Amino acid sequence: MRAIVLILLACVLAACATTPPEERNPLAAWRPSPNHDPRRPVVIVLHHTEMESAEAALLTLQTRNAGGRVSAHYLIGDDGALYQLVAESERAWHAGASRWGGVSDLNSASIGIELDNDGSEAFSDAQIASLLRLLDDITARLDIPRHLVIGHGDIAPTRKRDPSALFPWKRLADAGYGLWPRAQVAPVPPGFDPWAAMRLIGYDLRDPDAAVRAFHRHYRGSEDAQWLPGDAEILFDLQQQLMAMPEPAIVP
Ligand SMILES: [Zn+2]
Repeated sequence: MRAIVLILLACVLAACATTPPEERNPLAAWRPSPNHDPRRPVVIVLHHTEMESAEAALLTLQTRNAGGRVSAHYLIGDDGALYQLVAESERAWHAGASRWGGVSDLNSASIGIELDNDGSEAFSDAQIASLLRLLDDITARLDIPRHLVIGHGDIAPTRKRDPSALFPWKRLADAGYGLWPRAQVAPVPPGFDPWAAMRLIGYDLRDPDAAVRAFHRHYRGSEDAQWLPGDAEILFDLQQQLMAMPEPAIVP
């Protein structure tokens, strides 16, 4: 009995139950540490499917396609039905070439959620209610900052336009998700640099027109590539909110 306990203890100390031999690099001597946990996503990326139905989207997300294989962790039907296609611990293929702040491999860093929507219709109340329930669950369980709910068009501004300008970001913000200007925005100080604010929010500025279009789609419900009256106030407020946020806690 004592021997079994000792063997089990040795096993736990060596983390032998958690790291299979095939994941160990044969170039190195294995000196395992118990001080680790799974890598976790830090961002949630929303999409619309641009398809006619959830069933059609499920088929695309579950199969090989002529245009390449794609997937997402979740799909939400326009009736609010919630489907999971990929485990949260795995890397789903939804972001493609993209960038947000210093992160360029968004597939590795995010949870992807597809919304059944053809790209020209409003998002249904049932679908948004289901999305909010899922966001409550994921952000709490995976400890993802609630303001880091963003759109595919935000992270790939030259390639993607989803979710469309009809997506109710304000409604998400009212429920505590995403970044949104406060009701009373402060006057913009002289010398304010809207590009610096865009960069702080996370936008890739290599194509400035595309970045401004993405910002407008998200915050103004339009896709203008030129600055609009009111943009500076919004950007200044978002910058102020971000700069007032505490540094993310170092865990552990
Ligand atoms: Zn997308």
